[in-house]
Amino acid sequence: MDTTRLLDTFFELVRIDSPSRHEAEMAAYCKGRLEDLGFAVRIDDTKESTGSDTGNVIAHLPGTAPGHIALSAHMDCVSPCCGVEPIVEGGVVRSAGDTVLGADDKAGIAAILEALETVVADGRSRPDITVVLTVCEELSLLGAGALDPDLFDGTVPCFVFDADGAPGSIVLGAPYHYTLNAAFTGKAAHAGVEPECGASAIQMAAAAVSAMELGRLDECTTANIGMVEGGREVNIVPDRCTLSGECRSLYEDRVNAQRDRMTEALADAADRFGGSVDIDWREDYPGVLFDEADPIVEKLFSAARAAGLEPRTTVSGGGADANLLGTKGAKAVTLGIGMTAFHSFDEHIAIADIEGTERFVEAIIAEFAD
Ligand SMILES: [Zn+2]
Repeated sequence: MDTTRLLDTFFELVRIDSPSRHEAEMAAYCKGRLEDLGFAVRIDDTKESTGSDTGNVIAHLPGTAPGHIALSAHMDCVSPCCGVEPIVEGGVVRSAGDTVLGADDKAGIAAILEALETVVADGRSRPDITVVLTVCEELSLLGAGALDPDLFDGTVPCFVFDADGAPGSIVLGAPYHYTLNAAFTGKAAHAGVEPECGASAIQMAAAAVSAMELGRLDECTTANIGMVEGGREVNIVPDRCTLSGECRSLYEDRVNAQRDRMTEALADAADRFGGSVDIDWREDYPGVLFDEADPIVEKLFSAARAAGLEPRTTVSGGGADANLLGTKGAKAVTLGIGMTAFHSFDEHIAIADIEGTERFVEAIIAEFAD
C-alpha cells in the first residue's frame, strides 16, 4: 500500500460532487482508474430506471489464480455533499464546511482502488475480480436494484465496503424489509346531526394500530406505523384515513408472519366499523444472513487477522446494497470501514481506518486466490 496515494485518492474522490442521481463524474473517474489497472470496464444501462445521469460501474479483471470475488461500494452521497473540502485534524479526516464528508462510501472506493493498484503492481496472485460501484444507494438502493439479475452465477462472494464499525467488522445479517400502505374507506356523515349514518375511517385506523404489536418484536424483528393521515373537518365523520408503516426481520418466516398479523389487524378493524381497507405491501429488499461457520465468513476472519485487524461480527437493522446484490447472484457481505457520524456534518473517518480497510481488501484478495 502506498499510504500517500491512498489518501490522495480519498481526497480526490470526496472533492468530486456525487449526490444521488449525479454520479457521472465519479463514474468516469473510477472507470479511468480501473481501466489503467487493466480492467474491462462498462457502465450499465440503468439510467432510465434509476434516474441517474450514469449507470453502475462494472469492471472485471481476469485472475492469475482460480476463484472469483467481487468488491463493491456506492458512488453517491447524501446531501449536502457538493464542494466538500476535506481537512485533517489529529489523524482524522472531516469536512471543513457545511457538508457531509462522503467517507460513506468514498473511503470504501479509495480502499478498493489502492488495494487493486498494489496487488496488480506487485504481480500478486489474485482471483478473478469484479468491481461493482453503484449509483443511488442512498435512494433506497436503486442502483443495486437495477443491476442485471444474472450479473453473478450464484457462487461469487461479494464484499460491500459500506458499514460503520471498525475495519474488520463483518455484517452477518441485514433484514428483509416490507413497506405497508393502507387506505381505509368509511362513510362521511355530519358528526352532530347523523353520526350513525357514517363510518369513521379514523376509528378503523386507530383500532387497527392498537391491535398491532409494534416496535421491537424480538431480537431480529421490528415493526412500525410511521405515518397516519385522514379526515376532512372536525364536524364530519371521516371517510378516509391512510396508514404507512413497515416490518423487518432477519428471518423470512418471521417477517411474513408479522406482515400477516398487520394485514389481519387492518382487515378486522375495517370490518368492525363497517368500512373497507386497501392494503398494499411492497418488498423493499430481501434479507441477508450468513452463518459464522460459512466458509466465506471463515475466510474473512483469516483475512482480517492477516491485515492486523480484529474480526468482529454484527447484524444490521437496515438494508444495504448487499441485500440486493444477493438477488443478482452474489453472496454479498457488508463490511465496516470505520466511517463515523455518517449522514451528518460531523461525519469523519480516521486515516488509520482508511488504511485498515485497504489492508483488509488486499488480504481478502490474497485469501480468495485459491
Ligand atoms: Zn453508504
